[in-house]
Amino acid sequence: MTAVRAGVATDKGRARTINEDAYLVADPVFAIADGMGGHRAGEVASQVALEALRAAVQDATTDGLVEGVVSANVAVFDRASEEAELRGMGTTLCAVALVQEPGEDGEPEDRMAVVNVGDSRAYLFRDGELEQVTHDHTLVQTMVDDARITPEEAAVHPQRHIVTRALGIERDVQVDRWEITPFVGDRFLVCSDGLFNEVEDSRIASVLRRLSDPGDAAAELVRVANEEGGRDNITCVVVDVVDDDDRSGRASTALADEPTTTKTSATKAPAEPDVAGFDSPAPRPDDTIAVSAVPPPPKRSRRRARGPRPRRFTWRVALFLLLVLAVLGSAATAVWWYGRNTYYVGYDGAEVAVFRGRPGGFLWFDPTLVERTGIARDEVPAALTDRVQAGEDQPTLDDAQDFVANIQAQIDAQGPDVTIETTTTTATTSP
Ligand code: MN
Repeated sequence: MTAVRAGVATDKGRARTINEDAYLVADPVFAIADGMGGHRAGEVASQVALEALRAAVQDATTDGLVEGVVSANVAVFDRASEEAELRGMGTTLCAVALVQEPGEDGEPEDRMAVVNVGDSRAYLFRDGELEQVTHDHTLVQTMVDDARITPEEAAVHPQRHIVTRALGIERDVQVDRWEITPFVGDRFLVCSDGLFNEVEDSRIASVLRRLSDPGDAAAELVRVANEEGGRDNITCVVVDVVDDDDRSGRASTALADEPTTTKTSATKAPAEPDVAGFDSPAPRPDDTIAVSAVPPPPKRSRRRARGPRPRRFTWRVALFLLLVLAVLGSAATAVWWYGRNTYYVGYDGAEVAVFRGRPGGFLWFDPTLVERTGIARDEVPAALTDRVQAGEDQPTLDDAQDFVANIQAQIDAQGPDVTIETTTTTATTSP
């Protein structure tokens, strides 16, 4: 029997007022979610996702875990469409789980399944070395993959927070998955970007090397992230493999190299090819785990595990890359357009104001104040308060201004009953 032991720590950090991260520690499933959205929507998104994941994971298999993430996506998406205040909310989700998968002889074998959507990460700390298992779904990661920027540039890029995939945004979601054979001494770290945006990998590794208790290690990682700035919420789950049934004494396994991505929809559509994995055109068999009967070389390299992959750069490849870039470019523009190119009339504190963007923001585009109106919150006629509260869509600035004019007209028409009382009160209390 493979057995694991987990520790967790979370903190809102030093810059944020609320913690929109959430975690799930429910052996055999360990997950974190990093919510996004205005007001408290991010907090709701991450919690809804993890509650749904916990409820949905029925059987301990990789497919079961992926199904759980698909259910979590639907739960967040549905909730976001039901409540106006939660519109546009989303969350990342990264999870590891101890599962059973049929081995070469058909007998069930223990595996660590890793699944990911978004820019949270799972790392494997093995033989004293830290290796990132997951692949970020971010704009900068795409740029790194296209060799347009280096990983070092990506780490400090101003747009590094733009996520290209998250739960709750669409009805369907693509889930990346990996399977890793666990050995005693392996430590899996699942964390939000509040950790790795602040703390270098070498420092994360040194904490994992130094503190053997998973709870202590998680707490120390959070402390270090705060020490280095704490600009975001930080959540760390450390999962230690404490028993592997002496598997390491019998055989060994190389680390899975690349994710097998399945596009899974709520309607249980059959798996489709991975549209994001355009740099590996050949269909990959599902044997991402290479089992060998001999002990592994002391240093397992992911590149070497896969072997050389000859590839010629032809005009066909060039054309294909251009096409992919064009698609990515228009997708980014569409996201930007949706997030920014709209207006709404809402409250700026006690005043009615015109904003550009979506109420509560969309992904990482926060709404910006365009103009104040001089109309006080309590002046808004009762018939219109709901529409202002919800931040109803106004396609253009003209539409938004028309709506403001409409509010003003209704105030004027309504007459001065409430206003007079207020004025009187002010008059009597002022000297
Ligand atoms: Mn975050």
